[in-house]
Amino acid sequence: MFQAFLIKYGEIGIKGKNRYLFEDALVNQIKHTLKHVEGQFRVTKEQGRIYAEALEPFDFAETTQALQRVFGIVGICPVVILEDEGFERLAEEVLSYIKRQYPQGNQSFKVHARRAKKTYPMESMEINRELGGRILEAFPEMHVDVHTPDVLLCVEIRQKIYVYSEVIPGPGGMPVGTNGKSMLLLSGGIDSPVAGYMVAKRGVKIDAVYFHAPPYTSERAKQKVVDLARKVSLYTGPIYLYVVNFTDIQLYIYEKCPHDELTIIMRRYMMRIAEEIARKTGSLGLITGESIGQVASQTVQSLAATNEVCTMPVFRPLIAFDKEDIVTISKKIDTYETSIQPFEDCCTIFVAKHPVTKPNVNIIKRSEVHLQEKIDELVQTALETAELIVVG
Ligand code: ATP
Ligand code: MG
Repeated sequence: MFQAFLIKYGEIGIKGKNRYLFEDALVNQIKHTLKHVEGQFRVTKEQGRIYAEALEPFDFAETTQALQRVFGIVGICPVVILEDEGFERLAEEVLSYIKRQYPQGNQSFKVHARRAKKTYPMESMEINRELGGRILEAFPEMHVDVHTPDVLLCVEIRQKIYVYSEVIPGPGGMPVGTNGKSMLLLSGGIDSPVAGYMVAKRGVKIDAVYFHAPPYTSERAKQKVVDLARKVSLYTGPIYLYVVNFTDIQLYIYEKCPHDELTIIMRRYMMRIAEEIARKTGSLGLITGESIGQVASQTVQSLAATNEVCTMPVFRPLIAFDKEDIVTISKKIDTYETSIQPFEDCCTIFVAKHPVTKPNVNIIKRSEVHLQEKIDELVQTALETAELIVVG
């Protein structure tokens, strides 16, 4: 029945040059998303509107679900496209559209015509009135409500005629690519995929880094992170995932530093390495799934100690979220089931029984002095041997 989708997007703050960037990024993201859907689509931008038009038969549910993952889309309107064969023919088509779409037939409605083709022989107001009259005649149960109609029937007269009335909600946010790029520290847990999703929703392109410690962490744990990146990439577009071998650094920290400080020192090295990769690959910020108080390494003191090594802004969108709320989002974006698979993302031998919960940065720094002999070289090797996996 439907041959196209009219894409509605929020327009606040996207005036002038920004508007083109926003629209072009949105068109690109829609094209990318629809590539993974059955059928061919043509995505066009014209006169302040974006249309995705099907060139072949397509699966309606699959297509709308895909569009619902494109940030920047506020509403998705399925459109019936008609040839212009005169007003009588249009009126017939509109009546059969209403009959199909609203079989219960007792709603209030309003016709909203828009004449982009100025050579069309009737003006918008006249089309509204005429079509409204025909609808009332054909469906006596329906009535007009110009202020808050149940059904707003839009009729756009262009080269062809576009009829639509349904709006499927989109995810909102801004198109990925309109707000620079940042590096997500992606683990196999519940939080970091959600954090990446949330920042991407504000238009930020996402790269990711995963620290693994073979043989202490398994190949399967790494695969789980790749799987999570793939789930997130359904929203963000392709993700460049850097897999860093962290084993030697962890062993060296374990050998040289007090064990109750291991986690903090390890996390400081994760941030340093992530920032280095970010700098080399054009990211302007880091993203983590940290949340105040969730674990010993996420007390305010621990966060301060971790943050102290960073020069880039660190985005922590979950900072004030309860676990339950994070879980709700991870279920919504379909990362939860993967996140709860039982593969350790960090090996337990490196986790102290009684980690410091209120680390003092100066003490941590003093402990790190014990690493000075070999750490630069180990970090260098970790950077040089990082594996790049392009996901999505
Ligand atoms: P998550 O559920 O995201 O794993 P968590 O509650 O397990 O988080 P931590 O293990 O303290 O918390 O990690 C805090 C943040 O540090 C994570 O959200 C993630 O951004 C980052 N992180 C932790 N471990 C790794 C890792 N192995 N590789 C990359 N990033 C990591
Ligand atoms: Mg974790």
